[in-house]
Amino acid sequence: MSSGPKELHGEIMFRNEVFQTGLMAGLLDGVYDGEMTIGELLGHGNFGLGTFDGLDGEMVILDGVAYQMRADGSIEPAELAQRTPYAVVTNFVPTIRRDLPNSLLRKTASQVLDELTVSKNYMYALKITGSFDWIRTRTVIKQSKPYPRMVDATENEDVLQFDDVDGTIVGFRTPIYEQGISVPGCHAHFIDDSRTVGGHVIDFKLREARVEICPGTELRLNLPLTPEFSAANLSPEDLTEQISKTEKH
Ligand SMILES: [Zn+2]
Repeated sequence: MSSGPKELHGEIMFRNEVFQTGLMAGLLDGVYDGEMTIGELLGHGNFGLGTFDGLDGEMVILDGVAYQMRADGSIEPAELAQRTPYAVVTNFVPTIRRDLPNSLLRKTASQVLDELTVSKNYMYALKITGSFDWIRTRTVIKQSKPYPRMVDATENEDVLQFDDVDGTIVGFRTPIYEQGISVPGCHAHFIDDSRTVGGHVIDFKLREARVEICPGTELRLNLPLTPEFSAANLSPEDLTEQISKTEKH
């Protein structure tokens, strides 16, 4: 395997690994505890997103720091000994950098990003930095055992809107063929510059922002050696519908 840069459709592509622990299908089935510590996870990437054991908040990793954004609104750097049932990270080396048109809505931003990326068949880590007219997020609520399935656990989440904020979106665009492994399409978390508000991104309107994109050409998947993961049903018939319900709204 050659690891040198290649030109594809006019863009320089380097090989870069996306590391993931746990499966989206595992979360859907209520596997909310993992084996991997945040310390170990950060060894695989300085940029990413995920959640914490017990579904205790949204994770965003920026510049090697994992932030825990809990449903009570608190945001703190996570302890390295905390664990995660699901997280996706990479070492963020952007090859594409662009200023985005002003006043973009999420839907239009998504089309713009489509045009910036080389192909739908690779993974992309993306970072949008700038000011937002508004952004809407939600945050998973810590669950207690016996854990409910994710469609039930996420049913009562509030969608919060933050107006006039500066911050960063950390996201991954994932090919549809990763359905069940990850969240197909765009999965993004937000944290503001003062590290006081954030969560799983539902919708936004940018004011002025810049995007940086890092292609992912390798996927390394870490499957938890836990009784819960080994016994989970990872191929439910309504997988697509469950992902849409829990991640897209
Ligand atoms: Zn999320």
